[in-house]
Amino acid sequence: MSGVARLTLDPAAVIADLDEIATQSGGRFAGAKRLAWTPDWLAARAWLRGKLEEIGLPLSEDAAGNLWATVQGETDAFLIVGSHIDAVPEGGWLDGVLGLMTALETVRKLAALPSPPPISVRFVDWADEEGARFTRSLLGSSACAGTLVPGDVQALRDAGGTTLADALATCGVDLDRAVGASSSLDGAIGYLELHIEQGPVLLDAGRLASAVSGTVGVERHLITFTGQAAHAGSTPMHLRRDTLAAAAQAALAIRQTAIDRGGVATVGNLSSTPGVITAVAGRTEMQLDQRHLDPATLAAMLADALTACRAAADAFGCTLDVKRVFAAAPTHFHPALVGAARAAIADAGGGYGDPIPSGPLHDATEIGRILPTAMIFAQSDPPLSHAAIENSPDAALRVAIDAYGRTVAWALANHAVLAGDDVP
Ligand SMILES: [Zn+2]
Repeated sequence: MSGVARLTLDPAAVIADLDEIATQSGGRFAGAKRLAWTPDWLAARAWLRGKLEEIGLPLSEDAAGNLWATVQGETDAFLIVGSHIDAVPEGGWLDGVLGLMTALETVRKLAALPSPPPISVRFVDWADEEGARFTRSLLGSSACAGTLVPGDVQALRDAGGTTLADALATCGVDLDRAVGASSSLDGAIGYLELHIEQGPVLLDAGRLASAVSGTVGVERHLITFTGQAAHAGSTPMHLRRDTLAAAAQAALAIRQTAIDRGGVATVGNLSSTPGVITAVAGRTEMQLDQRHLDPATLAAMLADALTACRAAADAFGCTLDVKRVFAAAPTHFHPALVGAARAAIADAGGGYGDPIPSGPLHDATEIGRILPTAMIFAQSDPPLSHAAIENSPDAALRVAIDAYGRTVAWALANHAVLAGDDVP
């Protein structure tokens, strides 16, 4: 057994790196400024390259703009450690970079070992995880996983009118060739990512960290109710074809079905026309997002929602149009890796709690489709993210970072098991 069995990460070094990158945005709680494919992002990347060069690792960038650095092991087969440096505008100081700085500390420690690890370890900074500028999340990791269809996204524009293809080109990435990044995974045997939870489950349970069982499936729809715009004063209640009333009734039913089936459903927006105080709404568009870890239950939630929308449309004399705008299948992470992460958290002092599912999507969602994958969550307190006040207790960071190192050590010691395994 190599020395990797005792890989010990230094949480203080990770936190120091986090504070250093945060200073580029004005400090921990000043709001991160690392929007993908912008000069801010390139500056953060340049800083990261410097950190990797300090360790002496060879760097490369793949066809999708993902940044890689390799610790050479006894064989070329490799474990992937990483996360993302990009951030939503005015984002928090931990989303993405907690996992990335922990992966940096991992390769720093591995490179300093007296003998090489049994297999190689590749650090990755996935490009444009957030999709905050062009609405397409997980861009770099989906290019690697083979789920990115360039033709579907090349015309996406940011608020200023720039296309995704043009923005990538300014950073040296050719969108049409981005799927060539899939060769980056040739020889990979697994992927490990640390992230903040971004929600209240661990705080509510009094847990500092948890293994993650998988990421939930997502269904997103635009549902349009069409009735008749009419004068608010002259139209009796029983003669109205009121689309906002129909959509509101459906929204409450959709909320209840999520509660009943143990998932989440969000009607994030109802947009009506003519949209004035003196008119019945003749047309209302509903934006619906539904999530569940079990695909059959997610399908049932969607069926419930459409039934509720049809019933509400009928009740108010409206017609209905339903358009799916996004769907992602659930990803179940690798049972043995999840088990190793769970045990590692216990060994690090975080207790032996049940793995929890992730509601947000992560790069691990994409990579978990094709490689044995696991994630560790650190408790979020306050229990929110994509906001400048995002934070985690120091104790949670320390347990999660320690547990991540232990999980990497387990994966390196058990690489033969992982290499022989199919993704569940
Ligand atoms: Zn993230």
